[in-house]
Amino acid sequence: MSFANPYNFVKIDNGVERSNIHNTVFHNKIQENTYTGVLKCTLKTLTKIFTPSTLPEDIEEKNIGKDKNGRPRIHYMFKSFYYLKKDKQKQYAIPGSSLKGVIRSVAEAISNSCMHVFDGKYKNISYKNSDALHKDSCIFIGEHGNLAEGVCICCSMFGMANAKDTKKAPESENKLLPNAFKGKMSFSDALLQSTPSFETIFSLKELSSPKPYHKTFYADRQTIKGRKFYYHHSDHDVKDLKGEETHRNRSVIPLKKDALFEFTISYENLTEEEYGLLLTTLELESGLAHKIGMGKPLGLGSCEIVVTEIREFSKNRYLSISNASACKLFSNDALKERKETIKGLWENGIPNDLKCILRLNNGFTVIRYPKKDTRDQSNDEFTIYKNLHPPCSSFSDDEKTGEGIVAFHTPQIKPEKSHRKKPSHAVGSLADVFKEAIKNKK
Ligand SMILES: [Zn+2]
Repeated sequence: MSFANPYNFVKIDNGVERSNIHNTVFHNKIQENTYTGVLKCTLKTLTKIFTPSTLPEDIEEKNIGKDKNGRPRIHYMFKSFYYLKKDKQKQYAIPGSSLKGVIRSVAEAISNSCMHVFDGKYKNISYKNSDALHKDSCIFIGEHGNLAEGVCICCSMFGMANAKDTKKAPESENKLLPNAFKGKMSFSDALLQSTPSFETIFSLKELSSPKPYHKTFYADRQTIKGRKFYYHHSDHDVKDLKGEETHRNRSVIPLKKDALFEFTISYENLTEEEYGLLLTTLELESGLAHKIGMGKPLGLGSCEIVVTEIREFSKNRYLSISNASACKLFSNDALKERKETIKGLWENGIPNDLKCILRLNNGFTVIRYPKKDTRDQSNDEFTIYKNLHPPCSSFSDDEKTGEGIVAFHTPQIKPEKSHRKKPSHAVGSLADVFKEAIKNKK
């Protein structure tokens, strides 16, 4: 029997490169030798996808009985895809903030940037906060209120906030110094262009049963294994995604595959390297794809982004309204050539670990979490497959390039001490959406 766990890790290499903050270009003007403009992009969905509306009227609480202490159990139903209201009509969309988050985490993995949302803890496990891991966020303001050691390429491009460190700054200087860096890009919402076609609402299979995460899968001793990404699946039938309604899972109404969205990214003062990284990340090499929204471990959210138009502005743009040379438009053949040139500005390519996970054709026939058996250790996949999760870097070249080989090695059957912690009900990003929704409801 072989199956792939839904996710794997991109190894964190040593050393986050940071450039001195004084060399970082600021926002007040178009700088020489940098790039400013607008990218127009399409996003095509390759599987079902769901980003929920979190408006109170779009979330239904369904009472599904009581727990053993007599408290009611509630099943939450997300009854609508995210939308904007336009002339009283629903314009379905993917929020720009979600897009930006997805693109950022891929760009961080490509460029070995800091893990800006990681705080050294995962599911009650504390990982050593060693600088050698370079997972710590960049710090804008140092101990004495001076600008700190600089920022990584992703913090420079996407922005950062380090409010906690401002306390350390002397009062007088604190007032003068920024404690956050705005970033150089803004992502519009991606608006659905094709005719909306949704599945009938259903409850997603439980992700947390029994326990989708496992210390040995995430950590090597106290060191986190890397940056986590989910494998792509083929588009599943609803019957394969559907589970019973419980207080842990949610009901969703996904958009069917082959939906087409459009969005824009406005960027200013990107350095050559940053511009190259942006294009390399957005429009991945052929055969690789992004993942967005809820239900990633179950295979939802695979999508492909294509840049369909580039407008680059020169500094003349703000000097004269009639200056035609101030804006260069690239489309058709010129676009293709321009994209290749820009991608070439990022010289390091995409790490093999990441390619291995983002590959559409990964050859896996079954992707699922291991099954827990607390009574019989010899039947407990969490115990049996202690080594289910070799880092991608340990795959052979054939496995990485996906020549039809399932990239899982024969497990070593070495029953270990059982990990009998109470099951937790946290479900990653789903939980975040949910928390957000509850907050909005209040
Ligand atoms: Zn950073």
